[in-house]
Amino acid sequence: MSDHDIDPTSPRMAPKPEVTKIDGRELKPSTLMMGYGYDPVLSEGSLKPPIFLTSTFAFPSAADGKRHFEGITGKRPGGADGLVYSRFNAPNQEILEDRLSVWDGAEDALSFSSGMTAICVLMLAYASQNDVIVHSGPLYAASEGFVAKVLAKFGVTYVDFPAGATREEIDAVIEKAQAQADEQGGKVCMVYLESPGNPTNALVDIEAVRASVDAAQLDCPIAIDNTFLGPLWQRPLDQGADIVVYSLTKYVGGHSDLVAGSIAGAKKWMDPVRMLRNTMGGICDPNTAWMLMRSLETVELRMNRAGENAAKVCDFLARHPKVEGLGYLGMIKDARQQDIYDRHCKGAGSTFSLLLKGGEAECFRFLDSLKIAKLAVSLGGTETLASHPASMTHLSVAEGRRAELGISDNLVRISIGIEDADDLIADFTQALEAV
Ligand SMILES: *Cc1c(COP(=O)(O)O)cnc(C)c1O
Repeated sequence: MSDHDIDPTSPRMAPKPEVTKIDGRELKPSTLMMGYGYDPVLSEGSLKPPIFLTSTFAFPSAADGKRHFEGITGKRPGGADGLVYSRFNAPNQEILEDRLSVWDGAEDALSFSSGMTAICVLMLAYASQNDVIVHSGPLYAASEGFVAKVLAKFGVTYVDFPAGATREEIDAVIEKAQAQADEQGGKVCMVYLESPGNPTNALVDIEAVRASVDAAQLDCPIAIDNTFLGPLWQRPLDQGADIVVYSLTKYVGGHSDLVAGSIAGAKKWMDPVRMLRNTMGGICDPNTAWMLMRSLETVELRMNRAGENAAKVCDFLARHPKVEGLGYLGMIKDARQQDIYDRHCKGAGSTFSLLLKGGEAECFRFLDSLKIAKLAVSLGGTETLASHPASMTHLSVAEGRRAELGISDNLVRISIGIEDADDLIADFTQALEAV
């Protein structure tokens, strides 16, 4: 008998029950990230989950195979109760999805190969021909484009409202969307939010949207892209959203070394999306899922540090004579926005806009002079990044619309990392001198 031939009935081999509470105390996500959803006993005692590089899974018996497929195809409610094929799911992705659910207090989660895959599959799962999507504005440019250009090919239209809209304004938008849906012979199929908006950090009142949707008795999910503040600084399911959406590429991945996405929410909202993901593919790969599990172990540490750094840097920038203003959630000037922040957010984040006195030339001199901060789009990584939205991420947005969204030529977007805060301040000091 080799070391491997352990009696499978011995307690050593039995998977341990999941511990999420001790003496009535709910364990925090930061604790659960080290072990939740994974039992070393099932993987040769390996403390960390191995990367399961397999396309398919062996069934214990033909009857098991049949039962699994009944679950996958929806012939039997409840979904798959075992692993079948890696386009549907696999161990690393399942553990990752369990851990992502923990952060948002969600029943279920699904992982995807990118944030945009998550968003596109989500919208396709809910939109039928001639339906209407209500969305806040601005959205991430590719999300806005998917609604306005791709879904439009199937007769899906949209009605949008500015982030910061009041309950009354949202009521009016939903009424308009319902009329538009009636006219088209469809329904309002989704309310899709993004908060805070990029790059201005305008917040959406999720509680007001929930109240509006309920008052109109709309039978559709409220989804929200929580990439900028999640999972630490905003938990939109607590404010009444049904589905939370992430580009895991940003804070969750956190090291600017992977691309992935996810959605989370009640199982009833996840099921139609899971079915479409099973058909289309787009699930995150095992290697990336493993990297994301590693990232989740430090996400709270990283986000806390980045948030503290951003507060120190903004405190410096706000008082600098070459700075015209800051779009930082820790320094909101508008009472309505501050009220939304107080009700929705647990932290101000580390991504903000810096308005310099001047225009594009001044911004470019500033960006080209930075020595620590890297000149790149994206956000939420360990390193500080800076970019110029008007000439980069939002270049394709029409000039009028850009002005409407507050994306001016003197706006620099900054995502603060986890470097030493005083080193960052030294870098910004010398770059501002060069302006
Ligand atoms: C980056 C980003 C996305 C897209 O995610 P990818 O992982 O790049 O596909 C969607 N929404 C927001 C707010 C983002 O910042």
